[in-house]
Amino acid sequence: MSRRDLDFLLYEWLDCEALTSRDRYTEHSRETFDAALDVSAQVATDHFVPHNKAADANEPTFDGEHVHLTEGVREALTAFWDTGLVGASMDAEVGGLQFPFVVTAACTSWFQAANVATAAYPFLTLGAANLLVAHGDAEQVKTWVRPMVAGRFFGTMCLSEPQAGSSLADVTTRAEPQQDGMYRLFGTKMWISGGEHDLSENIVHLVLARLPAAPPGARGISLFIVPKVLLGSDGSLAERNDVVLAGLNHKMGYRGTVNTVLSFGEGAHTPDGRPGAVGYLVGEPHRGLAAMFHMMNEARIGVGAGAAALGYTGYLKSLRYARERTQGRPVGAKDPSSAPVRLVDHADVRRMLLAQKAYVEGALGLVLYCARLVDEQVSAEQEGDRLLAGRLLDVLTPIAKSWPSQWCLAANDLAIQVHGGYGYTRDYDVEQHYRDNRLNPIHEGTHGIQALDLLGRKVVADGGAGLSLLAEEIGHTVARGMAAGGEAAELAAALRASAARLGEVTAVLWGAGDPEATLANATVYLEAAGHVVVAWVWLEQWLAAEGKPGEFYDGKRQAARYFYRYELPRTQPQLDLLASLDRTTLDMADGWF
Ligand SMILES: Cc1cc2nc3c(=O)[nH]c(=O)nc-3n(C[C@H](O)[C@H](O)[C@H](O)COP(=O)(O)OP(=O)(O)OC[C@H]3O[C@@H](n4cnc5c(N)ncnc54)[C@H](O)[C@@H]3O)c2cc1C
Repeated sequence: MSRRDLDFLLYEWLDCEALTSRDRYTEHSRETFDAALDVSAQVATDHFVPHNKAADANEPTFDGEHVHLTEGVREALTAFWDTGLVGASMDAEVGGLQFPFVVTAACTSWFQAANVATAAYPFLTLGAANLLVAHGDAEQVKTWVRPMVAGRFFGTMCLSEPQAGSSLADVTTRAEPQQDGMYRLFGTKMWISGGEHDLSENIVHLVLARLPAAPPGARGISLFIVPKVLLGSDGSLAERNDVVLAGLNHKMGYRGTVNTVLSFGEGAHTPDGRPGAVGYLVGEPHRGLAAMFHMMNEARIGVGAGAAALGYTGYLKSLRYARERTQGRPVGAKDPSSAPVRLVDHADVRRMLLAQKAYVEGALGLVLYCARLVDEQVSAEQEGDRLLAGRLLDVLTPIAKSWPSQWCLAANDLAIQVHGGYGYTRDYDVEQHYRDNRLNPIHEGTHGIQALDLLGRKVVADGGAGLSLLAEEIGHTVARGMAAGGEAAELAAALRASAARLGEVTAVLWGAGDPEATLANATVYLEAAGHVVVAWVWLEQWLAAEGKPGEFYDGKRQAARYFYRYELPRTQPQLDLLASLDRTTLDMADGWF
């Protein structure tokens, strides 16, 4: 990662220091933020980087009893937990440090860039812990969350099943109530990251399942805690629960994160003498999916942030390579015996580097902006401001998840291209970054599902209030750009036109009275809206750099120019296509393929 860029985004743009005057963050200062960023960079470099390639080359194995992971994972995680940063944003009363989420997101990016697969274990644990804090009762928080924040127990999210991926409404795992108030679960979960290992004393699975006679569909799904090892009344580890590994999945990337098929209630273990995985209900019956989705904003920003971090590190590595390798001569050089120039001296290589810079710095800006909104949501002094932050976050979340996942993957593709043939070998890191990043448009809701969420739900929710708020915020930035004059005003005018067109096209799409046609090209809408939003982020960065001399700020301005000249114009034909309510995809018959 670039510490210089993180400092720019956090302090010169997002004014994170201002947060320290809020009640929630009074314990903190620029010094504590900087110390956290320093230690993240250090631990990520010293403990996460060294086994990144080894964990990719040697995927996890299962010997029938234990899952084996590459050497270095356990030690790296111990070093990470020792920093105290896992759970740093959580409340002090559950063992957190009440750090602003935006600062922890920046810290996290170091670990994701260094070794995204090892970083997944604590971040999954944190996701599960946050879900329990939000929806569990006091006893559940005490029993499960504290050991998770301390790193003794790890967590998983068990949503997907072999037949239920995007459509979680079709989950079939059963939960049978018992006389003692507990439940027994039976079923199979698919794709569960971190589902089995010996890295922690226990694994706390958060499982979606159906109660008997539950209403069909999404409104009949409940959430349960199912620990790998049951606890005695004093909290000590007791009997093995009836949840076991049924198999490992062999992945293209992210290989260091063990990915599992889990069987619940098949009788491999018999707690209290009977088969069935013992589970504890979290929150209300049938409200499990709602609880899960409540936590999705942060999880999805986390996916976008991971994509941005992988894109960023690939960009920096390809930049270094392009500055070191020489090849060919400048256009117009006549003398074949003259010294070759560096790759970076060729305009086409600079194009590939500039595109990466525009994507990764735009994406990082977007996810940190959203993380800052999470902080506004929990700490703004006025309730109205908290509500507005939540509303803006809701509409931006599908974009914060999908835009980095698409364009920072494109950045990784360009990083390989900058390396030429060497980029296609395993001797360099960039092919692994590409494979690792390829997961991000798939998990936590695929690209297509995010598109349906944005166009089908978020932009129409509350009579379009989220989209109006976004337009208003973009309008404020445009006004500041206009007032700044010069090139800033030119960018502002281009943004104003694109944002207005997006608004018009949204109205046309929803005015058509044909939801099927409207949603047929939802992905095109997601991509156009994403480019408009990232153009806004780039104008914000331009304004934060306005009038400041030096190469760093010149680089920001050039990347912003690149985005406005090469990227934002892509939205024009996309928006025209959308406005025509084109039916080509809809009308394509199965037999015509
Ligand atoms: C490496 C990895 C780790 C994972 N970790 C976890 C985990 O820890 N816990 C967990 O619960 N799950 C996990 N998942 C599961 C992940 O969330 C699912 O893979 C994802 O939700 C997609 O489901 P699916 O694979 O069944 O694909 P499908 O739902 O079958 O989708 C296939 C394609 O069809 C499209 N599609 C599906 N439905 C629609 C629709 N209604 N309209 C338009 N297009 C549609 C999708 O966009 C996609 O392109 C993981 C997956 C992977 C690959």
